[in-house]
Amino acid sequence: MQQDKTHFDIAVVGGGMVGAAAACLLAQQGWQIAVIEQTEPDAYSPEQAMDLRVSAISPASVRLLQQAGVWDALLAMRIRAYTELATWEVPGLETHFHAQEAGVPELGFIVENRLIQLALWQRLQTLPNVTLLCPAQVSALVQQSEDATVTLNNGQTITAAWLLAADGANSRLRSMAGIGINRWDYRQDCMLINVDLEDDAPPITWQQFYPNGPRAFLPLAGHKASLVWYDTPEKIAQLVALSPTQLEREVKRHFPEQLPACTVTQSGAFPLIRRHAQHYYQGRVILLGDAAHTIHPLAGQGVNLGFKDVACLVDLWQNARQKQLPFGTEQLKQYERRRLCDNSMMQSAMDLFYAGFSAPHAPLKILRNVALLVADNAGLVKRKALRYALGL
Ligand SMILES: Cc1cc2nc3c(=O)[nH]c(=O)nc-3n(C[C@H](O)[C@H](O)[C@H](O)COP(=O)(O)OP(=O)(O)OC[C@H]3O[C@@H](n4cnc5c(N)ncnc54)[C@H](O)[C@@H]3O)c2cc1C
Repeated sequence: MQQDKTHFDIAVVGGGMVGAAAACLLAQQGWQIAVIEQTEPDAYSPEQAMDLRVSAISPASVRLLQQAGVWDALLAMRIRAYTELATWEVPGLETHFHAQEAGVPELGFIVENRLIQLALWQRLQTLPNVTLLCPAQVSALVQQSEDATVTLNNGQTITAAWLLAADGANSRLRSMAGIGINRWDYRQDCMLINVDLEDDAPPITWQQFYPNGPRAFLPLAGHKASLVWYDTPEKIAQLVALSPTQLEREVKRHFPEQLPACTVTQSGAFPLIRRHAQHYYQGRVILLGDAAHTIHPLAGQGVNLGFKDVACLVDLWQNARQKQLPFGTEQLKQYERRRLCDNSMMQSAMDLFYAGFSAPHAPLKILRNVALLVADNAGLVKRKALRYALGL
């Protein structure tokens, strides 16, 4: 690591899962990279409590993490494969998706967000062309025609030809670049609840839809699982005020009978907001991950979309280099065109689920349950939809 450098090809602001993955892959292409991150991830030990924030990682994201050289490190920590996904509204009318229908050994893996970030950081620390500036935040941005200058909150100033804004949903760099967002509050919050089980969790993730939102089960490594309870902000506020024993009682009363016997160990609540940036770049600043878009997490697509942004950008950088062209307006337009379209489609699909399953009217209820039944027997269409959701 070269801490005294002040000019870089690319500075990544935000070293979370998306920013750190972009930094690894671009560094592997040989660019001089700076990563500016406010908080370094804690080291791993197997005794540590499970992180509340976990992600369902698709096979496409696994490929990206393999290319970044971190998949084996993740396998050596805590990770859980799942081979089946079930969803229903009326018990008994369940739609099942199996890995073999998509032609893959597993539908994905449930991994703690912090461990994905940690594995990427460990990799970044081995790359000689990466400078980690941490703890640090960007406090000022000045854009020039050929590069941009950022001042950090410790007084340090660096310049970079390109700045990647990967600083999350409330991106400060996005605001500094003057990029607006379209924002919509789902009026639904979500409670994440970690539980201990008596046995190993089955390799199945499931979700039942209720009028106020779904309730979901995600298996974790060991005898553990993550439960997700979506409900009105008022109901989630009531749940937050409960003791672990009271919450456990509520979980047992309100979750589907498929829930194995469990003990609540940890919980936390999150508001759900859909955001989409009005532009994916401005001058020398390029948005990716949650800085560009946030989505309803009911199908676990958020970070998978962020990793698709990374794959697209890295590919455009590589192609430009192979053709001996500078990375510039043409690549930026292509990035925005490709990713805006894909991200908008996935956001709309999630909104359709959210709105469709929130409507209480009897004809709509019949229609959506027929749709689920049709989906369960849709053969090729089901296989194609599944492969799309897995990023294949
Ligand atoms: C309840 C819930 C459940 C979810 N479940 C799933 C799931 O199952 N599957 C899935 O794919 N997605 C899921 N998501 C979405 C997923 O968590 C996000 O899409 C993902 O975390 C985005 O990663 P990111 O790196 O873009 O942003 P973040 O994870 O927010 O990382 C941003 C990074 O930038 C740093 N940072 C922020 N501001 C600054 C600053 N000013 N200066 C320096 N550094 C800064 C932060 O410290 C952080 O490290 C879920 C989201 C929620 C809310």
